[in-house]
Amino acid sequence: MRKNIVAGNWKMNTSLQEGVKLAEDVKKAIEGKDLKCEVILGVPFTHLASVVEVVKGSAIKVAAENCADHTSGAYTGEVSVEMIASTGASHVIIGHSERRSYYHETEEILKTKVDLALAQGLTPIFCIGEVLEEREANRHFEVVEKQIVESLFHLCEKEFGKIVLAYEPVWAIGTGKTATSDQAQEIHAHIRSIVAKKYGESVANDLTILYGGSCNGGNAPELFAKPDVDGGLIGGASLSAEKFLPIILAF
Ligand code: PEP
Repeated sequence: MRKNIVAGNWKMNTSLQEGVKLAEDVKKAIEGKDLKCEVILGVPFTHLASVVEVVKGSAIKVAAENCADHTSGAYTGEVSVEMIASTGASHVIIGHSERRSYYHETEEILKTKVDLALAQGLTPIFCIGEVLEEREANRHFEVVEKQIVESLFHLCEKEFGKIVLAYEPVWAIGTGKTATSDQAQEIHAHIRSIVAKKYGESVANDLTILYGGSCNGGNAPELFAKPDVDGGLIGGASLSAEKFLPIILAF
């Protein structure tokens, strides 16, 4: 079902102790608030079990920021979906642009990760988005379409229905340059239409599509007010409860 979601992506930030404190701060900050969205904390692997423990009894869910493209075995340094699920985490971010560009994750690798996550009962938060040159060449629509088709369109309708999409224009991530709410709406509507063509209107309407890229307490209300923007994937502003809370309350 389509949901409003505000998800943090801490990336490679915070020591375990700082991360636990940040999760406690977010938990305290939302206590007693009438939340109109689901709140997810995307945290480093080392923090998963501890953060799951901290947020127990609250509305907060926990996501890993990546997963291995194999189930188990001789893959030194990798973390499997089974390991992630065993911490109590419920979601996993897959295909973040930093993984695509710095770690050369292809559509094929990401497709495998999506399949493994779903088989393990984890909800993939699947990231898509164009780089600046693609936007300037007006190729953003075809870029996101290719990303969706090649990593997700092999899924049956039921499995596809479990995916959360995050549209994150790479030029807006960590740059302070947010897409305008009209730009976000335009491409989110386009994404929904691509999904409708493949899976039908009802699946497309049920799909949750988050916006990510320099989203903050100031711009979130306008972005989230758009009919096809169902929330945000938040990097920098998720690293303090003070900055994260206004985004959660933007709905
Ligand atoms: C992200 O990394 O997913 C992100 C959206 O980062 P930021 O909010 O810092 O732009």
